[in-house]
Amino acid sequence: MATNETVIYGRSYQSRKPVRIELAGGTIKSIAETSERSIAETSDIKASEYLIAPGLTDLQVNGYAGFDLNTDPLIPETVREISVKLWSEGVTTFFPTVITNSRENILRSVCAIAEACQLFPEAVAAVGGIHLEGPFISPDDGARGAHPAEHVRPPDWNLFSRWQEACGGMIRIITLSPEWPGAADFIRRASESGVTVAIGHTSATPEQIREAVAAGATLSTHLGNGSHQMLPRHRNYIWEQLAADELFATMISDGFHLPDALMKVFMRTKPGRMILVSDATGLTGMTPGDYNTHIGGKVTLTPEGKLHMRGNPDMLAGSGKSLIHCVETLTSKGLATLAEALDMAGRIPYGLAGLPGEAVLSGGGVADLVLIREGIDGLRVVRTIKAGVTVFRTDL
Ligand SMILES: [Zn+2]
Repeated sequence: MATNETVIYGRSYQSRKPVRIELAGGTIKSIAETSERSIAETSDIKASEYLIAPGLTDLQVNGYAGFDLNTDPLIPETVREISVKLWSEGVTTFFPTVITNSRENILRSVCAIAEACQLFPEAVAAVGGIHLEGPFISPDDGARGAHPAEHVRPPDWNLFSRWQEACGGMIRIITLSPEWPGAADFIRRASESGVTVAIGHTSATPEQIREAVAAGATLSTHLGNGSHQMLPRHRNYIWEQLAADELFATMISDGFHLPDALMKVFMRTKPGRMILVSDATGLTGMTPGDYNTHIGGKVTLTPEGKLHMRGNPDMLAGSGKSLIHCVETLTSKGLATLAEALDMAGRIPYGLAGLPGEAVLSGGGVADLVLIREGIDGLRVVRTIKAGVTVFRTDL
């Protein structure tokens, strides 16, 4: 059962020193260093082993643990199930991601998510907003990724407004390609209305990228993926987005979507602006094995969390790792410290998404927290606290 917390003990994910955190009214009232002795004497005997960090915010979730947000029709219960299951992965806020589809299907999906947030307290707590990825993306093979070509279309503000109105303004992030005529005007309107505009699945020229940034785009979606196999070596949209200091960028750091060197370069180029996303699918969190999916067909999920087309390990079929395991990938490869990786999965995306308050481990920060144990088998989420309430706990 959910427990309202007032005091928790553990170690700060930044300093690794023992801390006592007081919670009140869904925020951190105070945080103070304490002694090794006092942490050892708390009722939670394992507290000295726990690292406490801001809860994870995943800006891109297509599904999880057998539940797929792009099934048709999407039912509100699916959103609730994913909300609850992601708590076991330390994710306190997520953005259900609706991809390119027919106008009617997108309408139905965004309305189902909005309905979930009226019906279920779990969804109200966990859903930060809807991420609409498409349909205003590139029609090009490669850049388009797995998005269905027949539903790709140029940016259409009236159409977007109809979806937005129908779901009560819940679309908070839109991923589009600025290669279309009129894209800059769309971006200006969307960002003025408070929606975060992300560049992704694009064939845009460097000039079009710059125009999009000037019009208000602030994010690059899964930079380096959803892109062409071959690009001009100098003038291309990846360099241009890396060079645009205004842009935050997300990357899928599951260890399979991008080579280590590229992830390292991304992080060095965008200090304080790099964000990890899972891009999780309905098969993320499932038992390794062979599956048949409605989008990808026959796929295999390996024990390492790689999701690929069956019989072709080089052809990825989406992402098979949750966000905490994307954090772990960076730390296990020595590409980031745990504190840095947790910030890229918690504090930074929370701030970018314009959610209320700040996801920081200090007085006044939101009481969305994750308690993590580092073991020889990797990171384990032992407890998740949402708005001061324990929503997941395990003794394992
Ligand atoms: Zn994508």
